[in-house]
Order: sequence, then C-alpha cells, then structure tokens
Amino acid sequence: MIYNHHLTPTALANFRYCPRLFWYNQKMQFGGEASKNIAIGNFEHEVFEKYLELTKIDWLSTKNVNDENSLNERISRVFEFAIKLSKIRYPQFMDYLQDDLATLRYRLCELDRQKKNILDTLIKKGLTFDEAANTILPWKIETFLYSQKYNIKGRVDTIYKTKNGLIVEDIKSHESRLDGFIHKIEHKTQLVVYAILAEQQFGIPVKNAQIFYSRDLYTESFKITSKDKNQVLAANLEARNTRSGDKPPKLEGEETVRCECCYKKDLCFGFRNLKDDEYGEIVLEAKA
Ligand code: SF4
Repeated sequence: MIYNHHLTPTALANFRYCPRLFWYNQKMQFGGEASKNIAIGNFEHEVFEKYLELTKIDWLSTKNVNDENSLNERISRVFEFAIKLSKIRYPQFMDYLQDDLATLRYRLCELDRQKKNILDTLIKKGLTFDEAANTILPWKIETFLYSQKYNIKGRVDTIYKTKNGLIVEDIKSHESRLDGFIHKIEHKTQLVVYAILAEQQFGIPVKNAQIFYSRDLYTESFKITSKDKNQVLAANLEARNTRSGDKPPKLEGEETVRCECCYKKDLCFGFRNLKDDEYGEIVLEAKA
C-alpha cells in the first residue's frame, strides 16, 4: 500500500469521529477561522507546557521544590511568554486571555502542589530526587513525530518517560466534561496515533496515554493495546479512500449526538453557505 498523501493524528481522529467531518476538513484545510475558544485553548496549552518546562529546569537544578518565591517567579515568566505569543497570534482576543489569568494562576499553584505530593511519594518509594522529577515532569514537550511507513506526521504535546515505557499526553481545554466525553473516540484515536509514531521514532514501547484537562487539572488515562493500534492503522487506509471519494453521508441513529458537538455542523446541515474560496477548494479537490 502506498500512502501517497500525509495525514495527521488529528485528521485520523476526525475520521473516527465522523468520516464526513474528516472529508470536509481534508477539502477545506485552510477554511477555519480563529475563535475565542481556539485562542483560549492555545493560550492554555502554551501556559501549561511552559510551566512544565520551567519547573523541570528549576527542580533539577535547585533540588528545592518548596520555594514559594521561585514558584511565583516561574508563573510570571510563564505568563510573560504566553501573553507575548498570543499578542502576535490572537490580538483580537487579548481581553479574554487576560481574564483567564487569575484562574490560571490558581490552577498552576494547585498543579504544583499535586506534582510535589507525587514527587514525595515516589522518593518515599525509593526513587532518587532526579528519577522522581524526571518521571512526573515531561521527557519531551511539543515533539514532532513522523512515520514514513504510514505517512503520518504530527506534534504531540508532551511525552513522559517511565520505567514501563513512554506515556503520550494531549492537553485539552474543554469547558464541559460532557463535550470531552462525546469526543472520546476522537481523543483516544489521536493518542493511539501518537503512541504508534512515538514507539517507531524512539524505539520505546508506548502502552499508556493520557489527556490532561487544563480547566480542572483532571487526567484521564488510557491503556493502548495492540487492538487499538490495529484499528487505527485500518482507519489510516479507509481514510485515504474516503479522502478521494464522494462526501460521506451524515451520521445516523445514536451517533447523531456527535453532531451537536461538531464544529462543522452549520456547514454540514446547510445552515451556512460556503464562501466562494471554500467552494472552489472542494470542487478542485473532488476533481483531482
Ligand atoms: S454535523 Fe454530524 S454528520 Fe456533519 S460532519 Fe459533523 S458529526 Fe459529521
């Protein structure tokens, strides 16, 4: 099988959520508009990833995790970095991002407490300080993954290295846990793809994955089995046929609940007319 067009973990996740959504996204890859929720989600990504990166540097260099001044200084540096980036990317949403800072500070302090508690527990179990810190703080952040074999490429948020292998993690900023629940198949598919790619790239087994919900600091863990990987690899073949075929039908039966949480619903149900350039893109792609 020749995989002649590269797909991303997100595209395969879309495909398993709804083939029609995948088809739209393939034909209109650049049709998305920045929204307040996208801006907040990306802002929170930057904040949590920077916090993890700076915390690891601080902890491993000082071996002191209880310095309040150091934590406050770290959080200030995190905000400075994320705001600077967002001013360039989302200047129109800066008011919302500024409003997010108070609860973000609260959440980072709470996350820091949680990480310190786990660190203490691991040290009591016999790990050295460095071993414990390296287990609970990411081994890699924002890592590009690529498989030539399956022609899939994407960027995983964080990877943790434990004695049982790697754990791939995605950070989500869903407001509602129900929304996360409805998107579960999409989230898990994305993680399974990361697991396949990370295993190939680093030669280390990946049997566990997790989603970190930045709004309430909840971590949802998944086991990644061979069956999961085979299902996703089968989807990698099916998705390519769908990509070059006609628009798939709408979801039916109990699966229609996914339409309520679908960002392409207006387009799919004809509530929004395609812009000329979007329509042109679909026609050109369909003829190709
Ligand atoms: S609205 Fe429903 S059928 Fe349409 S793309 Fe979204 S999930 Fe698929």
